[in-house]
Amino acid sequence: MIKFDKADRLKQLPPYLFAELDRKKAEACARGIDVIDLGIGDPDLPTPDNIIAKLAEAAREPKHHQYPSYIGMINFRESVAGWYQKRANVTLDPAKEIVSLIGSKEGIAHTPLAFINPGDVVLVPSPAYPVYKISTLFAGGVPYEMPLLKENDFLPDLKTIPADVLNKAKMMFINYPNNPTAAEATTDFFKQVVEFADRHNIMVCHDFAYSEMTFDNYIPPSFLETPGAMEIGMEFHSLSKTYNMTGWRIGFASGNSEIIGGLGQIKSNIDSGIFEAIQVAGIEALEGDQSWLPKMRAIYTDRRDVLMAGLRKLGLKAKSPRATFYAWIEVPEGYTSASCVAHLLDNAGLVTTPGNGFGDPGEGFFRIALTVSSEKLQEAIDRMEKTGF
Ligand SMILES: *Cc1c(COP(=O)(O)O)cnc(C)c1O
Repeated sequence: MIKFDKADRLKQLPPYLFAELDRKKAEACARGIDVIDLGIGDPDLPTPDNIIAKLAEAAREPKHHQYPSYIGMINFRESVAGWYQKRANVTLDPAKEIVSLIGSKEGIAHTPLAFINPGDVVLVPSPAYPVYKISTLFAGGVPYEMPLLKENDFLPDLKTIPADVLNKAKMMFINYPNNPTAAEATTDFFKQVVEFADRHNIMVCHDFAYSEMTFDNYIPPSFLETPGAMEIGMEFHSLSKTYNMTGWRIGFASGNSEIIGGLGQIKSNIDSGIFEAIQVAGIEALEGDQSWLPKMRAIYTDRRDVLMAGLRKLGLKAKSPRATFYAWIEVPEGYTSASCVAHLLDNAGLVTTPGNGFGDPGEGFFRIALTVSSEKLQEAIDRMEKTGF
């Protein structure tokens, strides 16, 4: 009998947060509880019709059936360049400054492999999307967690990073609008990041997944529009959240050509790019009818307003988000993140995410995703109230 002993890189990982949540939810369902899932950030609405129609048409074209280019079709990258020009007034060379991704998660997971040697430090936010830390570990890097604290508006305090960490730091991940805290970056914060990165020789990777999922006419800045950002950094983006395309697996990275080139080199040795028909549909998403966007914003605004009014009534503390589809809520007196989430599942049939699951500094918070209807959110509030919350 062979013993299938896992590699150390897998053994060092904590259980994947969402796998754990799925298991708990399945258990509750098996016990006959009528569960409302406010846990995972996956849009519940369908992909807009024009995008689906374009895929159907492009899928019939035999020329799309062959291996795609690993850096992506030039037409798709041109379309991304057009989006950046219009959205952020950033001019990108589609040949060298953009690479297509099989979802931004793929790009985030592969970037440290291109630049991190064993022992190099990567600055990662905490709480955060888990992939920044895990991809660092896979590359043999050492994550240094920058706590995102309420008193700093959930922005990392760059001044507190010790000098010996800075000496070894080669890369930094940031993400605004932020998952899980729903925090926003100011233009001034991005300027500080560029200045800091330049001074300490640190490559900056900004995750912009929620750029269009906004309320109250808020327009989040792209990191790349910060003066000097193209010299030191790059940005990940995705069609997943903006166009309800999480299942399609299409995203892109843009920015400094050496960073994009390094990521492309890793990709050319691992994957063979995105199905071209999906890229053609991606062009339709970026350039076609945009009437979905105001509809999406109206739907999530309505949900947010229902949730925030309910939370206020229950005396729960959370800042009303202006972007993302998350509310980052302080647990009530007497609870920890874990006990609060367990209480909500056991007594109200609500799946929520414990803040510390995204990293220790998330302790004391839990996250609710606006990925169910306003009616369901209202019901969730009513159930919370009945449990004495
Ligand atoms: C959803 C999400 C992504 C997007 O993932 P895709 O792989 O593009 O679907 C990236 N970053 C964060 C923070 C997210 O929440």
